[in-house]
Amino acid sequence: MTRRREGDSGERIMARLLDGYDTDYACTDLAPHLGPRQARYRPLHWDPVPRDRTRVVRYTCCCAATYYEFISMGGSYGIRKIVQSDPPQVLYTGGWTRDVGELWWMRLLTGEAR
Ligand SMILES: [Zn+2]
Repeated sequence: MTRRREGDSGERIMARLLDGYDTDYACTDLAPHLGPRQARYRPLHWDPVPRDRTRVVRYTCCCAATYYEFISMGGSYGIRKIVQSDPPQVLYTGGWTRDVGELWWMRLLTGEAR
């Protein structure tokens, strides 16, 4: 449950939810959290359809409204973005070799890509 604080309006709670750091999931701190987006970040192209069957390799903490998974898609690698809206929005990027995928995953975590 979202923690309701004294004096919170519905709008303020929703603003925190959309901000990405106060959702229905308790944070176990077991998975990484994204750093803030850098001013000169590289925009990734997000597609609603995966290239192939997917398998999760790594993931970020799902306490955020939007979390990410580093995935293999058949023979290539990519990133799945999950926006925990109702209904959830799921988007994909990638088609990289593992090395290139790891580089983009690191850029995502450090805020150099989104
Ligand atoms: Zn968390």
